[in-house]
Amino acid sequence: HMMFDQLSAALTEVAQNFGGKQRMTENAIAPALKSVRRALLDADVNLDVATALIDGVKRRSLGNEVIKGVTAEQMFVKAMYDELLDMMGGEVTPDSSTQINLYSPVSTLAYNSSSSTNKPTVILLAGLQGAGKTTAAGKLALYLQEREVDPDAVSLMSETEQKSTLASKLPKRKRKVLLVAADVYRPAAIEQLQILGKQVNVEVFTLGSDVDPAIIATEAVEYAKTNGYDTVLVDTAGRQVVDEELMEELRRVKKAVEPEETLLVVDAMTGQAAAFLTASFDNAVGITGAILTKADGDSRGGAAVSIRGVSGKPIKFVGVGEKTEDLEPFYPDRMASRILG
Ligand code: GDP
Repeated sequence: HMMFDQLSAALTEVAQNFGGKQRMTENAIAPALKSVRRALLDADVNLDVATALIDGVKRRSLGNEVIKGVTAEQMFVKAMYDELLDMMGGEVTPDSSTQINLYSPVSTLAYNSSSSTNKPTVILLAGLQGAGKTTAAGKLALYLQEREVDPDAVSLMSETEQKSTLASKLPKRKRKVLLVAADVYRPAAIEQLQILGKQVNVEVFTLGSDVDPAIIATEAVEYAKTNGYDTVLVDTAGRQVVDEELMEELRRVKKAVEPEETLLVVDAMTGQAAAFLTASFDNAVGITGAILTKADGDSRGGAAVSIRGVSGKPIKFVGVGEKTEDLEPFYPDRMASRILG
């Protein structure tokens, strides 16, 4: 399944437009840029982001000799790829912001002592109803459970890259994850999380639906400390709309547990609206990144391309299906390749 069907059609057009030209001139690339721009907007890429992308492709392409053995189309696609990559966060490196921060300063200091005194790594999940937040909680619990406890932020890069870090020299242990049901508004939310918890073999902490979410989260962290959990994943309330009450609640939960990560779950199918949603959550509560769900059903890619440009926040994971294993770290390079077909 390919995203951006429109874009690949535009690139075929690019090939035809170039013919046998030897140099990337303004005139030679103008029709191609126009097609690409149309494809980006049809894919629901944000207008400012599309404009920046087009300007970047132009800057990279103009004046370039078409080298022997490379077609103008290939060069244009390369410029397009480089721009998309930059727009989505660039190459993922061990210290880039696309990685998830599993580093809790306190637990690192006490790394070799009893884990019961440690502050666990806390991750908050937020999002609107239907975005796939509860599903993402189950998926992320499974993902984290398979990671090792590591005093460094765990890189989402290759295994070999992780192995070359200092962390590899320390004794290894898999993460022990606690899921926390802090969505007290949707009646079925707690039960849904419990079912997911069973599926991925992760304990679910709940105090029912009559307790304040900030208290639930605080108690959960205490519970985690005394029961040897090193990672706490808090499923916060989802609402139909963004309202001040929701933001205020998130701020209170955040203040109560000081999370290492606050991730907003957004639906890829909503296109650039997902990017604006990310920006407004960041402005209101401060987030560290987004989880882009339903990327498997999205043939447009507007959300993936726009989120970072509009909100300044990276996408950290992508949901690619309904099953608990359908979660992948977000690699801008892979997404750029996928977009270009
Ligand atoms: P919440 O209201 O945000 O907690 O949403 P849910 O987790 O209940 O998910 C809403 C619907 O989206 C469910 O039917 C999920 O199976 C579906 N869903 C969630 N994530 C994905 C995904 O990555 N891909 C697909 N295809 N469906 C998803």
